[in-house]
Amino acid sequence: DLAPVTRALLSVSDKTGLVDLGRALATRGVELVSTGGTARALRDAGLAVRDVAEITGFPEMMDGRVKTLHPMVHGGLLALRDNAGHVEAMTAHGIAPIDLLVVNLYPFEETVARGGDYDACVENIDIGGPAMIRAAAKNHAFVNVVVDVEDYAPLLAELDSQDGQTRHAFRQRLAQVAYARTAAYDAAVSTWMADAIEEPAPRRRAFAGTLAQTLRYGENPHQAAAFYTDGSNRPGVAAARQVQGKELSYNNINDTDAAFELVSEFAPEDGPACAIIKHANPCGAARGATLLDAYKAAFDCDRTSAFGGIIALNQPLDGATAEEIAGIFTEVVIAPGADDDAMSIFAKKKNLRLLLTGGLADPAEAGRMIRQVSGGYLVQDKDTGHLSADDLRVVTRRAPSDAEMSDMLFAWKVAKHVKSNAIVYVKDGATVGVGAGQMSRVDSCRIAARKAQDMAGTLGLPAPLTGGSVVASDAFFPFADGLLTAAGAGATAVIHPGGSMRDDEVIAAADAAGLAMVLTGQRHFRH
Ligand code: 5GP
Repeated sequence: DLAPVTRALLSVSDKTGLVDLGRALATRGVELVSTGGTARALRDAGLAVRDVAEITGFPEMMDGRVKTLHPMVHGGLLALRDNAGHVEAMTAHGIAPIDLLVVNLYPFEETVARGGDYDACVENIDIGGPAMIRAAAKNHAFVNVVVDVEDYAPLLAELDSQDGQTRHAFRQRLAQVAYARTAAYDAAVSTWMADAIEEPAPRRRAFAGTLAQTLRYGENPHQAAAFYTDGSNRPGVAAARQVQGKELSYNNINDTDAAFELVSEFAPEDGPACAIIKHANPCGAARGATLLDAYKAAFDCDRTSAFGGIIALNQPLDGATAEEIAGIFTEVVIAPGADDDAMSIFAKKKNLRLLLTGGLADPAEAGRMIRQVSGGYLVQDKDTGHLSADDLRVVTRRAPSDAEMSDMLFAWKVAKHVKSNAIVYVKDGATVGVGAGQMSRVDSCRIAARKAQDMAGTLGLPAPLTGGSVVASDAFFPFADGLLTAAGAGATAVIHPGGSMRDDEVIAAADAAGLAMVLTGQRHFRH
């Protein structure tokens, strides 16, 4: 199943490594054929190369839209070398076989990522490239197709070890990578168009990503894993620059994303904010007069859980905050930036990972969430729901004070990022108890209150900070019990969507307990 390589067609937008590859192939006696820019680059390096126009008998035309779309090219890629009819057709039409195709595509994803306008994006949809890649990959029984600069060296190694030929298994692997590339490319085009179209919502979507990193393992050591980027280049864990620290793990990436998405709810102009995440749930989130205050307040929500946590900041990390963070074991810090003081303090903590994003995520920006179930994918719009005080309906006799209102809006934003059933107690712009991921709402209320009690012990306070707090619930209270638990813990105001069959009962209980209650009419389930 060996196949000799005597003729190569090279057509690449990214010219990295091209000249070295061309020279290495020429040295091994391989004839080179190329499209315009690629041929020029090879020729400039002193290599002999034939223009594809010479082979097709047509000039490259229509701004490069039509260069290689011709039977002289596609016949050479697709012909079965051991099929008499195919060989006859090649002879009859003077088609020479192409044994090696090296193509990388017009930079469509890069054009979208750098905000190219509609026409620029359209012009960067490669047509001839994917057509050739798919043809060569289909004919992997005889043809090699290389779409990754990373595969140049393995290709040459294969040729050297197989006496100028390649093995079937090698070509098969190249073909598999090639189809992954064209699939991802078309998915990127379709996703871009879906986002460009106003109405109606797209009927079909395709998903694909670009391999960014192979991970040591997945959620557990016996699971292989990798990280793919979606090409959007949004501020976040995927596009962040890792300044220092060990390689990110699968769980780190997941938690860092949760931390950064939460802290991005708090615009820098509204003051510093900090979120600390463990196992994808916040164990503390706070605002503060300074970043240091915000971090300390977030830390004091649940010091036990914050150990080994992931910290996200909505403003550049400064020296004082870095010093405080460095005092305990932390896995990852993600922030829009970091000043020199902070950098030199962290530099002493070799394992601590520091990620810089250059900005915050936009919580209002549309996007898609994908989750896998057995046999399929669930796809939904990102939860971009947000509220202001005007959207709230006061349903109790007592209306919330300004301070309660401000804490409730803060708690509501945090609750959006807590796994359901989510209960978040907040006092003075800081969470003081978080109940996450319970199967009953009343349990989340109890757990959050109990954690606040534990923290009072740790901090040496006379009473838990839930006294005089507000509480947010990501979905309605189906019964009054959860609400009464919160009241028992000392909460004075409650924010939740409302809409239960027993809303009247819940509101009556709130009135009886002297609570202020507002309804959002909007739910933030997160599972
Ligand atoms: P060059 O820089 O050699 O002029 O162009 C290389 C690029 O052209 C590659 O990215 C390749 O995929 C693309 N390409 C090759 N043939 C065609 C074609 O017929 N139509 C279009 N639109 N692109 C092509």
